[in-house]
Amino acid sequence: MTRQLWAPWRLEYIRSGGGGDCVFCSAVTAADEGALVVNRGAAALVLLNRFPYSPGHLLVAPFRHVGGIGELDDAEVLEIHRLAEQGMAALATALAPEGHNLGWNLGKVAGGSIVDHVHLHVVPRWTGDTNFMPVLADVKVLPEHLDETRRKLAAAWPHEPPG
Ligand SMILES: [Zn+2]
Repeated sequence: MTRQLWAPWRLEYIRSGGGGDCVFCSAVTAADEGALVVNRGAAALVLLNRFPYSPGHLLVAPFRHVGGIGELDDAEVLEIHRLAEQGMAALATALAPEGHNLGWNLGKVAGGSIVDHVHLHVVPRWTGDTNFMPVLADVKVLPEHLDETRRKLAAAWPHEPPG
């Protein structure tokens, strides 16, 4: 069976066990390393997807636990956009992707697994990745790989907003 790469975020973070805190709300107060946080703004943060569809798959989320993009205030909208840009710049330095998919999954039918805390996916892409990414998607991602990727991206994060 071939998966559509255009919906890579369907494999996003799946909470283990029942219940538990929202991964994004938890990341707001957690240490960067444990929560895979790459960068924090004033109202939003960037973390690595624990179940990435490609290396460096980032999630940008507001601090506030809101379920719709219409509930974001102007400062949050702007910062999420800028953090996504900065994330792509950091990815360019650390992993040199050739392109990106950016997307919001709104509702379970659209592939969202955390539907009550909105987040923007930034998925780096490489030529030919459609050939091997569906295979990689079924491979367990080792935590140390994520830790190393997090360190690389945090170190490569631009100091000044692009543009
Ligand atoms: Zn939340």
